[in-house]
Amino acid sequence: MSQTTLTARVCRDCDGFATATITTGFADVDGTRGTVRVNCPTCRGLGHTVPALRTTRAVRGAA
Ligand SMILES: [Zn+2]
Repeated sequence: MSQTTLTARVCRDCDGFATATITTGFADVDGTRGTVRVNCPTCRGLGHTVPALRTTRAVRGAA
């Protein structure tokens, strides 16, 4: 019996909160607060990681 349900693993570094918005302390030209968005470097803003087994299957399937 095969398992068909795939669950995304939560990134262990950011715990699923992959993007942080940081205020710069300065106002933009239109008067709004200036912000900078920073993504988690491990998952690159996805919030989850791809299991190694799925990556291995994809490589075998492509070859
Ligand atoms: Zn992450």
